[in-house]
Formats: sequence, C-alpha cells, structure tokens
Amino acid sequence: MTARKLAAGNWKMNGLAADLVEAEALAKAFPSPKVDVLLCPPATLIAPMSAKVGGSAIAVGGQNCHAVESGAHTGDVSAAMLADAGASYVIVGHSERRTDHGETDASIRLKTQAAWSAGLVAIVCIGETLGQREDGETLDVVGGQLAGSLPDDCTAANTVVAYEPVWAIGTGKVPTLDQIAEVHVFLRAKLEDRFGAEGAGIPLLYGGSVKPSNADEIFGVSNVDGALVGGASLKAADFGGIIGAL
Ligand code: PEP
Repeated sequence: MTARKLAAGNWKMNGLAADLVEAEALAKAFPSPKVDVLLCPPATLIAPMSAKVGGSAIAVGGQNCHAVESGAHTGDVSAAMLADAGASYVIVGHSERRTDHGETDASIRLKTQAAWSAGLVAIVCIGETLGQREDGETLDVVGGQLAGSLPDDCTAANTVVAYEPVWAIGTGKVPTLDQIAEVHVFLRAKLEDRFGAEGAGIPLLYGGSVKPSNADEIFGVSNVDGALVGGASLKAADFGGIIGAL
C-alpha cells in the first residue's frame, strides 16, 4: 500500500511569470489537501514558483535533469540546481524527452540516481506507443522500460513511477479502465518482485489526458495511486478538479 496519493502537474514548455497566479490560486484552494500536490513548471519558473508557494502544501518539481552535478553541458540543468531552486521532485524519462532528445532507459536510470543524490524524488515515466499497443507489445515494452530505467536502490520514498501511454498524452484519448488496470497490476507485480516491500509502496501514477471529468473513474482503478497531468494542470480550476477527485 502506498502512503499518500499524488497529483502531479507537468506544465511542459508552458508558463511565464504571470502564470504563477495559477500556482498561488492552487495553494489557496488546497491549504491542507488529502493528497500530495506537485507542480512541475519549466526550469525558469522553479525558483519563483517555489517562492510563491513556499510554506504551502504545494510542492515544486523539475521536468528533467542532467545525469551529472555540474560541468560543460551547455543548456542543461542538474538535479542539484533544481533542488537549489526549491524543487523536491523531478520528472525523468517523459516520452517527449525520450522522443525529442533520444533519452534511453540507461540515461534515465543515471538521471534517477542523480535526482536521488540531490535529495529529489524521481518520477520515472514509461509507456507504449500506439503501434506497440496495437501489436500486443504493451506489457513487454513497459516491463522493459521499468527494468531498464529504475536503478537498484528504489524505495517508496525516493521513486514514483508514472505509466503514460504515449498515444494518450495530449490527445484526449484515454485507455479503457481495464487497460489501465492491466498495466498497473503488471507494474505493481514487477516492482514487488524486484524491490520487495519497498516495491509495494512505490506510487504508481497514471498519465495521459486526465481531466476533471474522467479523474474520478481513473482513480477508482486499483493500483492507481495518483496522476501525472499535463494540459489540465495549467489552470488551478482544472487541476483542482482532479485533486478533488483523488
Ligand atoms: C503529460 O505531459 O505527462 C501528460 C500526461 O499530458 P496530458 O495530461 O496533457 O495528456
């Protein structure tokens, strides 16, 4: 059993300083939420968002980190820098990074270890493409990504896994509840096999076109411990509807 559910918002490459009002509104609307609430804005907004919501129940996270702490990596941001700016989580291996930046399970594993070294919780994303699902490869694909992306020292406190079917991200298409359940049961068994009691406690999020209107039924699926939310996390009113459903 996982301790608390998690509603994690991924703003992707959206948001300017003026949009921090949404984070402030969320903090005001949920002074003591029943679930953990996290916003992952672009790197430019981590420090100002942390300043705005500091002392509230809203945590702040990054969307990616480099695998090393510092050095000659122009344009990159390290996990230590995210932590220094006020982050307590970082998303690694999002499908958009796997596609746009050629990230592999091996590189995501290193980023996860870098996140831990900086004291961050790593949210490790996995998920199949539409073609892989249609070819009946979903469990093989997510099982391989899970095995390859997670280091050996995963605990319920340092790692969150997000199952995000690539074809459901930003498309408005959502798997059936049975399809979500099948993958989450499979992933939970794999986590328990590899990490024992810790694996039983690692939160398993679903992500892909979660909205206030479908959140309730998705959160009713067993082994769904919360959500990673893209588009619907940009506005406090929408994200609030999802948080309220958990
Ligand atoms: C995401 O970016 O991780 C995501 C799930 O996006 P959306 O909710 O917009 O599908």
